[in-house]
Amino acid sequence: KLYNQVQDLKGSIRVYCRVRPFLSERSSYVSTVEHIEDGNITISTPSKYGKGCKSFTFNKVFGQSVTQAEVFSDMQPLIRSVLDGYNVCIFAYGQTGSGKTYTMVGPKDLTEKNQGVNYRALGDLFVLAEKRKDNFRYDVAVQMIEIYNEQVRDLLVIDGSNKRLEIHNSSQTGLNVPDASLMPVSSTSDVIDLMNLGQRNRAVGATALNDRSSRSHSCLTVHVQGKDLTSGTILRGCMHLVDLAGSERVNKSEVTGGRLKEAQHINKSLSALGDVIASLAQKNTHVPYRNSKLTQLLQDSLGGQAKTLMFVHISPEPDALAETISTLKFAERVA
Ligand code: ADP
Ligand code: MG
Repeated sequence: KLYNQVQDLKGSIRVYCRVRPFLSERSSYVSTVEHIEDGNITISTPSKYGKGCKSFTFNKVFGQSVTQAEVFSDMQPLIRSVLDGYNVCIFAYGQTGSGKTYTMVGPKDLTEKNQGVNYRALGDLFVLAEKRKDNFRYDVAVQMIEIYNEQVRDLLVIDGSNKRLEIHNSSQTGLNVPDASLMPVSSTSDVIDLMNLGQRNRAVGATALNDRSSRSHSCLTVHVQGKDLTSGTILRGCMHLVDLAGSERVNKSEVTGGRLKEAQHINKSLSALGDVIASLAQKNTHVPYRNSKLTQLLQDSLGGQAKTLMFVHISPEPDALAETISTLKFAERVA
């Protein structure tokens, strides 16, 4: 049964959208999200000419009351296919504060119930590997890196070293960033330890006002090697779980120097990603992977037999409307 579901997803790009709840209970705002039904979402767009609205269609739309468990269970077949040797890429897109990190990692006060996709995905792979242990032997290892200003940094270092890493696309080893730490994991507690280390390293250099995590892309890569115990055949799969930098447009007149450079790098890499996904969706023969570090990193998991899930996030507040529309338009390009 699982195999059939996997076949259905093969080579496809799916687009999901999630709306986060209002953050303050005292909020007197009215949500810009007017209606959600199946894969449709309608946004109200007030204008001086009176009320208008705009609708978008995706594979799935999750409203603000949908739980982490529900979101994960929808992604489960896709994630499980990595054990069958598929490459998978899931990335969270949206403006800062729209809930990307919540979906991928969880909130700051992390509990088992509100854990995000990263934890659940690895936990689920362990469960499934255990179920198949009479026929397969699986080895799972993870890397965690950050791309900031088009530079790649290892997040799983203990000594805080800050060596610049290179991206090589090696189909032989499947390791695109061969010099980044590759940590074997076999239990959910291993995963929690490494995620904590990665999150700590990500925060290095960031101050409260200057939250770097919203201006860098972070990527947890899960490498799976499965050995068929009867035939001896080895299957390799890899999955990138990406929390992208905030997609908001920065007003050039307001920032200078370092902030402007960051904004330009983010802009460039997110448009490069959009271009790659759009050209895959249109089945173009030339796919422009080389235009950013991000697309180079994800190359082996975008296109071909790989399965891609673009997961866009929006905030319900009226003052986020322009970014909400821009996010939904970005997603609509490939849906
Ligand atoms: P981003 O990573 O896109 O900048 P965050 O994930 O940090 O956004 O979310 C911003 C705030 O909203 C955080 O406090 C987060 O815990 C909260 N939040 C986001 N999505 C949800 C959700 N679905 N349910 C409850 N709280 C959420
Ligand atoms: Mg975040």
